[in-house]
Amino acid sequence: MINVTKTFFPPIEEYQEQLQRIWKNQWLTNRGELVLELEEKLKNYLSVDHILVTNNGTIPIQIALKLLGNGGEIITTPFSYVATSAAIVWENCTPVFVDIHPEYLTIDETKIEAAITDKTTCILATHVFGNPCHVEAIEAIAQKHYLKVIYDAAHAFGVTCNGKSIFEYGDVSTCSFHATKLFHTGEGGALFAKDKALQHQLFYSHNFGHDGPLAFHGLGINGKISELQAAMGLAVFSHMETILSERKRVVDFYNENLDLSQIQTLKMRANTQWNYSYYPVVFKDEASLLQVQKALNAEQIFPRRYFYPSLNTINYIENTSMPVSESIAARTLCLPLYVGLDENDLKRIVSTINSGL
Ligand SMILES: *Cc1c(COP(=O)(O)O)cnc(C)c1O
Repeated sequence: MINVTKTFFPPIEEYQEQLQRIWKNQWLTNRGELVLELEEKLKNYLSVDHILVTNNGTIPIQIALKLLGNGGEIITTPFSYVATSAAIVWENCTPVFVDIHPEYLTIDETKIEAAITDKTTCILATHVFGNPCHVEAIEAIAQKHYLKVIYDAAHAFGVTCNGKSIFEYGDVSTCSFHATKLFHTGEGGALFAKDKALQHQLFYSHNFGHDGPLAFHGLGINGKISELQAAMGLAVFSHMETILSERKRVVDFYNENLDLSQIQTLKMRANTQWNYSYYPVVFKDEASLLQVQKALNAEQIFPRRYFYPSLNTINYIENTSMPVSESIAARTLCLPLYVGLDENDLKRIVSTINSGL
């Protein structure tokens, strides 16, 4: 059976070596040695000057919205994972959707200004499949209207834009280290912010607001990651080169062998170093998608309709029509992409798709 993704498992001995350190330290959480080491390694690898590793990729979005959203209207994308809009509702803010660009699949920056009201506090946009939003245009709009910018960069580990880490953009960027993501800690995530005062607030907020054992800086929640997860992160981290080159091999194979005359692939933003995180194909209509999906499933190949459905159609959200996002969501299939997906399987996937078209 071939799934859309397969978690990368480092050799068990390497994980055990990290676990030995934990047993020696007799220290399981509250920012132990392994968490601090992981943060240091990721900071260097990503060339960022600040990172806070967290227990998943959703809590950092919630923390950022708690600090910057102010219960207001949040301009956001309908084409993302449900965590993006759920976090807005969870934090008692109101999602205001802006449709997406049909080729880049990120929020359509030209439609943002029309959605701004006097209740708008933030823009929360997703770097979809690792493809950056139009970060310059969004920054200009935010400055003009005194809005904060939060990027859900869950897919964007290692992506650079204009020669710097994508995590350097926006007031806050968040990432996910979930088992299905490019780099993972089993469950985990991260927060990035450039402003020192905001960094401090985010830090307090992720640890119950504690300012030392007895005092409190303010309201907080538990966003801490444990040493056990950091151990997995450290074991996975030493294989980043393999993870990226293997993913590139699969992406190159699809690019060279799929019949691209009948399907649309992701249009990459200029000046971007991508991370090969997903391989979405957009069919001409939903019927073609369903037909190809059925043919693949018969071969025990399970791509995933991701992102589906368009988030503006979810039942706890007031539905506003988002024609581009709804159309893209209905026609997009993410193809299997992971370390070790071998050439025979790739040939089978590609020939099933090409003959189904
Ligand atoms: C995975 C993902 C999240 C949530 O991350 P978790 O670590 O699972 O909490 C949020 N947004 C997007 C776009 C994602 O793909």
